[in-house]
Amino acid sequence: MLHKSVMATTTGDAKDQGAPGRAWRRGARAAVRAIVDYALPPRCPGCGIIVGADRQFCLACWTSLHFLDGPGCSQCSVPLPTALPGGQMACGACLANPPPFTGAPAAVAYGPVARIVALRLKYGRRTGHARLMAQLMARPLAALGDGGDMLLVAVPLHRWRLWSRGFNQAALVADELARTTGVPRDHHLLLRAKSTASLRGKGRRERERIVAGAFALADDARARVAGRHVVLVDDVHASGATLRAAARVLRRSGAARVSALTWARVVPDALMTSNIFDFASLDSDISDPL
Ligand SMILES: [Zn+2]
Ligand SMILES: [Zn+2]
Repeated sequence: MLHKSVMATTTGDAKDQGAPGRAWRRGARAAVRAIVDYALPPRCPGCGIIVGADRQFCLACWTSLHFLDGPGCSQCSVPLPTALPGGQMACGACLANPPPFTGAPAAVAYGPVARIVALRLKYGRRTGHARLMAQLMARPLAALGDGGDMLLVAVPLHRWRLWSRGFNQAALVADELARTTGVPRDHHLLLRAKSTASLRGKGRRERERIVAGAFALADDARARVAGRHVVLVDDVHASGATLRAAARVLRRSGAARVSALTWARVVPDALMTSNIFDFASLDSDISDPL
């Protein structure tokens, strides 16, 4: 099955062989884990029913996910019905208004299951969901390039929101991506210079106005970004206004290339038959509390 890594269970610690004290502690840890696993069986990240392993979707949720691994726009990665020879095909929106990034892939289309996974990380503090999301984002990350000059940069929160929430969900996902792929990440490069209002329900011009000036580069960051392929990491890509604002700052600061990688992408309904999305009412600042 596709993306079978999601079905993987945690691996055991192969070290420490021959050390009785450590072996005892390892055995004790395994016993505690077994008790916890018994008391708290793994649940599907989408619907919550009991499943066989951590970070494993039930069959219904798994089959409802729409993986965005088909042909897409060369600039914003929105799915396109067919690929053209040469692969350099931009969508109408990018031809009319070129984005400041080159490639904005997402693991899955934004839908009910993708949404609940993102919300449970963001508002439900299910921080283990960051690992799940990163597992499924590793493949679109690899498709962006060989990784030699890549730098992962999570879309930052303003400090007030960071203090109130306690963590930045995009940074947790970037941490997991860095851990599993070896691509470095830098959480001190990009700053949220101003707190922005929700983008829900706003038109394109209004969204652009709200996020203008929202991001700035840290004082000592220009040398770290120069010549790099910066991959912005966020949970949800809806209108893209937030990602474009962040990408513009990075491009102006000397990044050789900027891409935007997300867990879920809101795809216009015309491109996603049998799925209904409210394209204008969503952004990475989704605010539905659980
Ligand atoms: Zn499920
Ligand atoms: Zn496009």
